[in-house]
Amino acid sequence: MINSLKNIAVKHFPVGSRKIYHRLNIFFYKGEEYYCPICEKGFKRFLPAGENIFGNSKCPGCSSLERQRLLWLYLTSKLKIQDQKIKLLNVAPDFAIQSKLKSLSNIDYISIDLESNLAMQKQDLTNLSFSDNYFDAILCYHVLEHIVDDRKAMSELFRVLKPGGWAILQTPIEKDREKTFEDFSIILPQERKKIFGQEDHVRIYGQDYFKRLEQSGFIVIKDDFINNLNRTEKERLVLDKNEIIFFCTKQAN
Ligand SMILES: [Zn+2]
Repeated sequence: MINSLKNIAVKHFPVGSRKIYHRLNIFFYKGEEYYCPICEKGFKRFLPAGENIFGNSKCPGCSSLERQRLLWLYLTSKLKIQDQKIKLLNVAPDFAIQSKLKSLSNIDYISIDLESNLAMQKQDLTNLSFSDNYFDAILCYHVLEHIVDDRKAMSELFRVLKPGGWAILQTPIEKDREKTFEDFSIILPQERKKIFGQEDHVRIYGQDYFKRLEQSGFIVIKDDFINNLNRTEKERLVLDKNEIIFFCTKQAN
């Protein structure tokens, strides 16, 4: 319970305090059993996160979750982002990945969010200020399920991506749901939590999620990169074993 309270509190830490919190955790949770590829430290265990108050999910050293550690592996071992000279947009950044991306001098990095102070700019994803074909790459993780007009958001992401560019556009997807469910008459937070699983979600995406991306213009590859990793690696890094990466591209001219 103490851990879950700490997890709730850390979201509100300013960046300086967050660094002290992580440094203390690196000392107290130091170990060999688990490893985080983002902060590159070993731990005796990971921390609970969100609803999963008894789970082993959040890295004590950088607060990354399963999906962020998988993304970082994908970016560095598959896409070799550390060797690419690119202009990158990160929508709704998380602390761990943003810190790493900002530290790479080859990346011209911009992050946006409607509300979070972690982002460099406040922007509405359905009405971006950037000109057409502005970015070489985009990361948008677990954002679209919060947006009523997700098709407008997808078309904005497509508009600002350069031809030949790539975007990783992730949302939670219900494994056994074929068609996306949405009902915009459900607006009360407690109703949304009951029906969509979280009080600020407006839909549950099904297996047809990729079709919306395609209808917005993207070429979509459903990459099961996770299955290329061995079991020991998946368990030691604590990765989401079911996360398929939606690697989207815009046709080159
Ligand atoms: Zn970490």
